[in-house]
Amino acid sequence: MATPKDEYDHVFNLLQQHHEWFQKSIPLIASENIPSPAVREAIVTDFGNRYAEGWPGERVYAGCRFIDQVEFKCIELMKKLFNAEFVDVRPISGVVANLAVYTAFTEPGDTLMALSIPCGGHITSGKKELGGTAGAVKGLNVEYLPLDYKELNIDVDKAKNKIQELAVKGKPPKFVMFGASVFPFPHPIKDLADAIHSVNATVGYDAAHVAGLIAGQQFQDPLREGADVVSLSTHKTFFGPQHGGILSWERNAEKIKKATFPGMVSNHHLHEVAGLTIACAEMLEFGREYASQIVKNAKALAQALYEKGFNVLAEHKGFTQSHVILIDITTYGDGGTVEETLEKTNIIINRNLLPWDIKEGRHFMHPGGIRIGVSEVTRLGMKESEMSEIADFIKRVMINKEPLEQVKADVEEFRNDYQKTHYCFEDATDAYKYIKIR
Ligand SMILES: *Cc1c(COP(=O)(O)O)cnc(C)c1O
Repeated sequence: MATPKDEYDHVFNLLQQHHEWFQKSIPLIASENIPSPAVREAIVTDFGNRYAEGWPGERVYAGCRFIDQVEFKCIELMKKLFNAEFVDVRPISGVVANLAVYTAFTEPGDTLMALSIPCGGHITSGKKELGGTAGAVKGLNVEYLPLDYKELNIDVDKAKNKIQELAVKGKPPKFVMFGASVFPFPHPIKDLADAIHSVNATVGYDAAHVAGLIAGQQFQDPLREGADVVSLSTHKTFFGPQHGGILSWERNAEKIKKATFPGMVSNHHLHEVAGLTIACAEMLEFGREYASQIVKNAKALAQALYEKGFNVLAEHKGFTQSHVILIDITTYGDGGTVEETLEKTNIIINRNLLPWDIKEGRHFMHPGGIRIGVSEVTRLGMKESEMSEIADFIKRVMINKEPLEQVKADVEEFRNDYQKTHYCFEDATDAYKYIKIR
């Protein structure tokens, strides 16, 4: 019988094994990243044990003297990074940010337009039948934005027509959400904002994936292109701790504040707010260089994989302008088995639906695609030449079918040289070092 102390030791053992594994792996999940040692230090502070309900300076808890100063600083730095009039850093994740945004701008029964999940959309803008947040939690009626499969982007003319058709049927959209979980190219906000505003709908933009690219000024600038409100995750291309946020204009401040609290959060994970503030300072200093290297790396990895025989989508337009690439993997298996096989060689990617998968009878567990993101390997200091080495490892597994143990050994050796976090002020601690404070 395991004693409580055995269980306790066992959990620490698992945590340590996880760290050791990631030290030796190539992490290519598009939604993931690593924070700096400085951010890791901020998130183990006592801020994580406190409450601070309300707006800084107007809390309903005592003990917030330093917490308020940090949160005001976080808001100030976020405003600077995104050139935003209003910022709320209390949503504890991207999902909670979207829930707050829906609460501020819609009523149950309203129509929301967004991309479907196979077309890159996120579960937060999913239909009720699919258990999506917009449908199942907020009671919104979800209509899909049409995607041009070849261009891997929203089809502007079809979207305009659909907005008009819905208006004629008496169900015009109340909210249109741009942004997605797979979007290699900037979305056409500018081309659609007038059509959306003309039916009195709100233009939203879900920047969960691309917040770091926007902050580094290497993607698009949704607030200048017509967005009324932008929701964020702070840990995908943005290299902060796992948290959320909302950007908007002063005119929307009060309804967003109210939707966040008391609507969506009680405590708002103050240690993560502290970590985010540190990440904002790093982003202000290093963001441009970091984001521009991400885009270069994504293009380089796509090109290298394409040249080695992989069907990387959107070749005719340079594969990507963001951190993410999408590959039709059906020649070599399905996304689920490819994910499992690569994991055995310490290459961590994820399966992904292709826009046409559902129509072709594939489903999420065994989709036709894989998605690869380069934010984390970029943060580890890798550049274009490392991208072609990574492409070669993937080819050796999927095309040459080399013994997995052999590739794994080479991956581990390759990773030895990339243990530090880049684009930060201090890197005394290795990126995946297990830190013991007991
Ligand atoms: C990841 C993601 C979210 C959710 O973010 P969390 O921080 O994981 O809650 C929301 N929207 C999109 C488009 C995403 O990709």
